[in-house]
Amino acid sequence: MTIDVLIVGAGIIGAACADALAAEGLAVMVVEREAVGSGATAAGMGHLVVMDDNPAELALTSYSVALWRQLVATDPRRHEYSRCGTLWIAADDEEMAVAREKQHTLSEHGIACEMLDAASLYACEPQLRPGLRGGLRVNADAVVYPPKSAALLLARAQSRGARLCSGQVIAINDNGVLLADGSEIHASKVLVANGSASVQLLPELPIRHKKGHIVITDRYPGMINHQLVELGYIKSAHAADGDSVAFNLQPRPTGQLLIGSSRQFDVTDKTVEPAILARMLAHAASFVPALTNLHALRCWTGLRAASSDGLPLIGPHPSRPNVWLATGHEGLGITTSLATAQLLCAQIVGQQSKIPIAPYLPARFEQLRN
Ligand SMILES: Cc1cc2nc3c(=O)[nH]c(=O)nc-3n(C[C@H](O)[C@H](O)[C@H](O)COP(=O)(O)OP(=O)(O)OC[C@H]3O[C@@H](n4cnc5c(N)ncnc54)[C@H](O)[C@@H]3O)c2cc1C
Repeated sequence: MTIDVLIVGAGIIGAACADALAAEGLAVMVVEREAVGSGATAAGMGHLVVMDDNPAELALTSYSVALWRQLVATDPRRHEYSRCGTLWIAADDEEMAVAREKQHTLSEHGIACEMLDAASLYACEPQLRPGLRGGLRVNADAVVYPPKSAALLLARAQSRGARLCSGQVIAINDNGVLLADGSEIHASKVLVANGSASVQLLPELPIRHKKGHIVITDRYPGMINHQLVELGYIKSAHAADGDSVAFNLQPRPTGQLLIGSSRQFDVTDKTVEPAILARMLAHAASFVPALTNLHALRCWTGLRAASSDGLPLIGPHPSRPNVWLATGHEGLGITTSLATAQLLCAQIVGQQSKIPIAPYLPARFEQLRN
């Protein structure tokens, strides 16, 4: 049987793309070397968050968060979806000004959000340490359980005719791919959607690994109500180099708390590192002192695929015929997976996309054009 699109990787991106392409009637095969959703997708926090550091990021995240709302509408519990909202915390006047600017940008884009003064902030989240200045609440942001969502998307793709193949792609050739067991699979197009491992297949990609740590606690229902993020997070997320930590705390629907996050460039060893973990937890406790009394159950790490301009690569490889890319989603791949799949699919089937595709095209990188 002819394969129209062979997708490398069954993380949230590969699964979402498989689902969207199969819905268009294309013959899809997904090749996964481990378990579905076991890469960065299993390591991620699953925060569906509108980010506005630049217009392209705002367009992609807001489009995708809306697609998530549609996806989960009939049964949010299957994805462990909870619309807890994001509370961006301003520690001082400077960060309060950043919050106001963010409110302005999001409101202009039709995204409901409200400024909180200190009294309203503590009414929303009594566990926050005293002395904070206020914050911004973004109501439509939510959380999901990413590996479950990846599995559900892939299962729907399979119900639409997509096939899942267990194997490791070691090379992309003119007719398809070569697997580690020596077999070849022929396909008209190959979609590279294997996250941070995409550079193993295409070393020319402008992507670096960014390792992150997460801790999960026992159940403390009602202790925290929103996904809490310090406004300083934005600086950490966009640091060009070095190690950084930022306060990012998520209430799971189970009552557990996910505590994040750290960022380390170019580290590929996934071992938990006590020093950066301790730094991350101390920083989190400086915002919510009661965290020090909770039981942590587990911690783990994951590798984000960070592109050099902070935006994902969605579209054809400019100098490799029949090779397509959906990678480089850094810390927003859960959020942007559904929009990525729509943008990718629109290009492959030749339809108009809902938002302009240009900012995400791989051809924007000169190194890929040669
Ligand atoms: C600590 C941390 C916290 C995060 N928090 C959030 C968050 O709150 N919100 C958010 O939106 N994003 C978050 N992210 C980012 C998000 O998790 C990723 O952007 C997203 O999971 C990327 O999905 P992916 O499918 O591209 O990659 P992956 O999930 O890594 O999937 C790639 C798949 O490809 C497979 N694979 C690799 N190479 C091959 C090969 N050669 N052959 C066959 N299969 C192969 C792998 O086994 C894997 O299953 C976080 C990431 C981390 C690390």
